[in-house]
Amino acid sequence: MDEVSESRRQVAYIVSEELIKVSSLLPSNRGRSKLVHQLVVACGLLRSRKNASGAIPVRPTVANREDLATFHDGDYLDYVLDPAPRRQPGGQAKEFGIEDDCPWFAGLHLYVPLIAGCALTAAQLLIEQKADVALAWDGGRHHAQKGEASGFCYVADIPLVLLRLKRAQGPRRPRVMYLDLDLHFADGVSIPFAKQQQPSRILTLSIHHASPGFFPAHPLAELTPADTADPFTLSIPLARGASNKTFHSIWGSIERVKEAFRPDFVVVQCGVDGLSGDPLAIWNWGLNAEDEGSLGWYVRGILAWGARTLFLGGGGYHSPNAARAWTYLTSVALGSPFAPDLPVPEHSLWPYYAPSFTMEVETGNMSDHNDGAYLSQVDDTFKQLATRLQDVCS
Ligand SMILES: [Zn+2]
Repeated sequence: MDEVSESRRQVAYIVSEELIKVSSLLPSNRGRSKLVHQLVVACGLLRSRKNASGAIPVRPTVANREDLATFHDGDYLDYVLDPAPRRQPGGQAKEFGIEDDCPWFAGLHLYVPLIAGCALTAAQLLIEQKADVALAWDGGRHHAQKGEASGFCYVADIPLVLLRLKRAQGPRRPRVMYLDLDLHFADGVSIPFAKQQQPSRILTLSIHHASPGFFPAHPLAELTPADTADPFTLSIPLARGASNKTFHSIWGSIERVKEAFRPDFVVVQCGVDGLSGDPLAIWNWGLNAEDEGSLGWYVRGILAWGARTLFLGGGGYHSPNAARAWTYLTSVALGSPFAPDLPVPEHSLWPYYAPSFTMEVETGNMSDHNDGAYLSQVDDTFKQLATRLQDVCS
């Protein structure tokens, strides 16, 4: 996208005091939402009287039961929306997955409808053409299922937005491409939308780490075979140490899928647990948009497609780095990425950015186990898949 259209791009940013308070309760990422939003504000990225070119802050609506029931089961909703304390494990808690890594927490009944509302508000802004790009960093809960919490995820905000976007009115029946960049397979999205009637108007592409025993294991997490019956449900698994070089190599496959499918809307789950420095320490992905193949470079490439695009958050267990990453990606969306060595502006949470006190997420020296033979296999496979998609979609 050229600089003129970048400067005209309307970027909406979903935030409210209530969202920060409730999202910060998530047990796996306690306090992370507050770090993210305060850093975005401290970096001056939101529109204000002083800054006419910032992202437009938009308050999320709270999803109602009817909204949630477009994907979730009624008895799951009865359970998670009940404000009464549920501290006893077993029984219904077990049935609905509210245990182990998804414990019940005070505020769950507020969290579920507000996170869904956050993502749905962003989708609605795109549908109504009030924004070209919408950022909902509190969404992106890609493991939640219809009737079960899973993998730190209690609400299936992504299926809810894919269904909402698919039903949007427009010059043609809209096509929605979902791209998942989190370290983990997008089981909560890829599985429910698999084996749809073809040609499908929702395409999912999950890029993730897969190895024996790594969560979540599923046959759909494997490299999609070129002769699959369902070329609308795609996966590219990557081995340990995946770096900018590997991501640069697979970018052509992603673009080929996009060109064959021609989406009206793109939804990107930008989990940052694959970035270098995450405590999971499995990938070694960089952030700086100037580096080919980095997450920032990906976001810039996706924006250049010119489709109306929703960016969601996801995993990310080094909270200050998650805040650095999503703040940086906000600046990329605005068309003016800041230098990565920019000092973190002074604000109340500044001490969390020790010891560097800069915005940089440095890459490490982990070796990349994705070899040339595997990357060529991905390339060959996706050339065939894209040709098939083109035939089905045209
Ligand atoms: Zn993850």
